[in-house]
Amino acid sequence: MTAAHSCTEAFVNFLVRRAGGLVSVALPEARADALGLDAMVTAGRGRRESAFAISVEARDGVSTGISASDRARTVRALGRAESGRLDFTQPGHVFPVRANTRGVFDALAWPEAAVDLARFAGLSPAAVAVCQVMAKDGNTADRRALARFARTQKMPVVAISDVFTERLCRESGVQPTSDTTMPTPWGIFRASSYVSAIDGTEHLALVRGDVSGAAVSVHVHQRCLAGHALGSMACDCRSRLDRSLEMMAIDECGVLVYLDAGLRAAPAASGARPARMETVVRWAAAADIVRVLNVERVWATGDAGVDAMFSAFGVEVLPNPQLTHERRGGA
Ligand SMILES: [Zn+2]
Repeated sequence: MTAAHSCTEAFVNFLVRRAGGLVSVALPEARADALGLDAMVTAGRGRRESAFAISVEARDGVSTGISASDRARTVRALGRAESGRLDFTQPGHVFPVRANTRGVFDALAWPEAAVDLARFAGLSPAAVAVCQVMAKDGNTADRRALARFARTQKMPVVAISDVFTERLCRESGVQPTSDTTMPTPWGIFRASSYVSAIDGTEHLALVRGDVSGAAVSVHVHQRCLAGHALGSMACDCRSRLDRSLEMMAIDECGVLVYLDAGLRAAPAASGARPARMETVVRWAAAADIVRVLNVERVWATGDAGVDAMFSAFGVEVLPNPQLTHERRGGA
């Protein structure tokens, strides 16, 4: 991919001859609307299919529209901030694709990842020329073939999930919404709620003792209505939660992050994000809460994903002697 406004004839030639796919330009929906790039299909489009708009040609300076230099001119026109709907005719030889407004946070797909990468590079309005790579046998290149292609062409490979993680690290954050105290059988805890900047989900933190600037045990729990509220014995959620609260009471210090507390209805997720990514968004919120509480060092939680997210968000993770003891078969 390349920034559309600086696309060259040589690059289009490379896309067509070496990559072999369709020359497409990904744009955010609002920009596509401003240029009059309506969706090619308005009904019956599969959830995983890209939102291609009707193909276009630059109105001025092109002949048949199909040559590399003509297509590069059209791509550049799509990327120029001054372009308007009168600068294009339809149909043409370049295929605009409408990317969801919130990029990979809305859909883990290549148009959204391409637009987000353009945003990382500070390009506005974000528009990038992209093309799916065809393998020698005519099929769409799989991960292996892509890696081989990138090696021979000396190009970097960026996975869509990498773009997602990078955006999460740049933009994740939580907004405190309430602060109170909560009496429990294990004593009184400070209870604070937070709303995620990424998806509006509300999370809860129970805090015991002075955790600011200290090395603290952080207990991360995901909401389980059956286990936590109703005492279902089909899972061990309730006993693990009780054990965390008990440990915090014994230590007289600690943080318990209760993810997706369900204190109020969260905005509906797009549904396009796999459960794995939803989990990562929640772990990131746990790390954000720990940072807001000014905890600088945490004892390893024993969950590699949570510990990795704490590290990624600049929270120092200390080896936990208690976990090592448990792994050796201790209490
Ligand atoms: Zn459970």
